Amino acid sequence: MDEFSFIQSIQQSYYRQPSLIKGVGDDAAVIRPTGEDIVIAKDMFVENVHFNRRTMTPYHIGYKALAANLSDLAAMGARPAFYLVGISISNDWTKEELADIYNAMKYLADRYKVDLIGGDTVSGKELVISITVIGLTNKDNSRLRSSAREGDIVFVTGTLGDSQAGLHLLLNPNTTIHTDEQYFKERHQLPNPRVKFSLDLQEINRVALNDISDGIASEAHEIAEASKVGLVLIEDKLPIHPALNQFDAELQYRWKLFGGEDYELLGTVSPRDWELVKQSAERHQVPITEIGYVTDDSGKVFLQKENGKMERLEKKGYNHLSR
Ligand code: ADP
Ligand code: MG
Repeated sequence: MDEFSFIQSIQQSYYRQPSLIKGVGDDAAVIRPTGEDIVIAKDMFVENVHFNRRTMTPYHIGYKALAANLSDLAAMGARPAFYLVGISISNDWTKEELADIYNAMKYLADRYKVDLIGGDTVSGKELVISITVIGLTNKDNSRLRSSAREGDIVFVTGTLGDSQAGLHLLLNPNTTIHTDEQYFKERHQLPNPRVKFSLDLQEINRVALNDISDGIASEAHEIAEASKVGLVLIEDKLPIHPALNQFDAELQYRWKLFGGEDYELLGTVSPRDWELVKQSAERHQVPITEIGYVTDDSGKVFLQKENGKMERLEKKGYNHLSR
């Protein structure tokens, strides 16, 4: 298949976004501003760095690449509208496998009504997928990391550590585990961005949000640093899936605090608005847990242990440049 028939094969037959003037098929796409703020994010996925064929099918790869990007928009409180896909393809990926990658993206795009409006296709040594997503928010309504305030409640959606547990099971097929093996694997392969929940927070004036791509310890630091506040996470309250306790205590601890790729949302909100956050979570059947509070301890994150002792949490997680 040549580049042109490939591009033809991935084109949408119609577009959903009214602000789109020109999608795929010219030198560039054209969108017309509507007065909303435009929110743009990019996330890259490189074979043998972010994924490999052993643990991810082509469908999983396409799904997770777009899901991670949508999760960034969710963390900004933005409504997803468009995406562009840069892809570098090596010879050992078949036409069917490439179609599967795009089918997965199409599935998510349908679900969130985002339009594929461009990209670039090149050949290379390994598979690289670089996605740009464009979303919209009401003016000055994006959910910045810098908006946490002393006295806020710290909350998190879903459960922590599932994705790393899934990866562990995929890499160690002989692990003896009794229940929910498929659940953990799917949390790794097919993460669910919390887009609708985050959009439903719009009536709340101020919410700080960050999505958990590198582990909650790292994301909590990002909020603490950007907002010049301290975050206290209460160890007992960190939500985990009931079947996570089948793993070693040490692994559980590492995965829930420092394991990434859960794509849940970590946030802070004034206690006054907490009830509204819970209601929105309930409307979208998103589990949500109050896990701590915000202090004036600028840039610091603490773990409050069972006995009440405070332990400083390190800002570690998966950091590509620190290897
Ligand atoms: P040009 O040579 O002008 O850059 P291309 O042949 O690269 O044009 O692309 C033609 C059209 O197809 C453009 O609209 C481009 O955005 C789109 N396109 C190219 N590759 C991809 C891709 N992998 N995914 C989505 N759209 C793509
Ligand atoms: Mg091009």
